[in-house]
Amino acid sequence: MLRKTLIISYAVLFVAFAAPFVYSVLCSAQEKSRDAEQKNEQQLQAELSRSIRLLDQGTSLEMDMHSYLVGVVAAEMPALFPHEALKAQAVAARTYAMYCVGLERHKNADVCSYSGCCQAWMSQDALRQRWGADYDKYSSMVSAAVRETAGEYLGYEGQPVLAAFHSSSAGATENSAQIWNATPYLISVPSPETEENLPQLISHVKVAPLDLRDTILSQYPHADMSGAPEGWLGRLSETASGRVDSLEIGAVPVPGTKLRQLFSLRSTDFRLEYDGSDFVFTVAGYGHGVGMSQYGAKLMAEAGADYRSILAHYYPQTSLLHFS
Ligand SMILES: [Zn+2]
Repeated sequence: MLRKTLIISYAVLFVAFAAPFVYSVLCSAQEKSRDAEQKNEQQLQAELSRSIRLLDQGTSLEMDMHSYLVGVVAAEMPALFPHEALKAQAVAARTYAMYCVGLERHKNADVCSYSGCCQAWMSQDALRQRWGADYDKYSSMVSAAVRETAGEYLGYEGQPVLAAFHSSSAGATENSAQIWNATPYLISVPSPETEENLPQLISHVKVAPLDLRDTILSQYPHADMSGAPEGWLGRLSETASGRVDSLEIGAVPVPGTKLRQLFSLRSTDFRLEYDGSDFVFTVAGYGHGVGMSQYGAKLMAEAGADYRSILAHYYPQTSLLHFS
């Protein structure tokens, strides 16, 4: 009887004191998520009213920022990548576009759709062709990533950053100083790709000795390629991330970036060997290696990272900002 009375008393006490507290916590959480939704909606409207001029296959197109970003994320990252990786890509693409506006890199356009210059972009018609029966599904996955991050960009000292990205890096990304200029937020950071978690990480390029000799001599006429192929390769110097800074060929140091271009290598993260009949480049990763690795973002997301931590990892010292 006494026990029952005690239980009832506790219940009354709970209802009297704790329940209003719990209720107010729940209400404030609800209010916060309503605020966040409202802010996201405002940012989306701001994005829809911003326009961007895009140079696509020789034609200058004008469109709203949201539609442009959907076309960029769809072209730059597989739609089946984890949602947080797609969101990280959306923020990087938005940041990159904002960085380009005003640079006047192109006549009558802010950006172009060539990935080797600005960032790739595909029209809805092109995406319909690429995705076929999966168009509705993939399109809504990509649009959601852009919509949920509406208005968010990475800033350094308040300005949109050069949010460079690439396909994959083996172990570490590259310092931008190695390729372009030194930039405080584009420094080498670890990246989780390995041959085990990314089977296509390693690629090979075979070059016949005569082709190697002719290609090198066409660019470096003073290279000494007179002896046997075994003796053509000299000292290799590495960048801090382990990529090729330069490799001596015929006693001439050839930059890794130049070799990448001459022999269409996927990256400057390579080693060159002579196997007795051919020269073989063994290449790791794909792309210039600077900024966010897209496969690294995928692996991080699969391991539970959200888009904010993916971006903070690949672009250190930047902050996630909103359109004002
Ligand atoms: Zn361009």
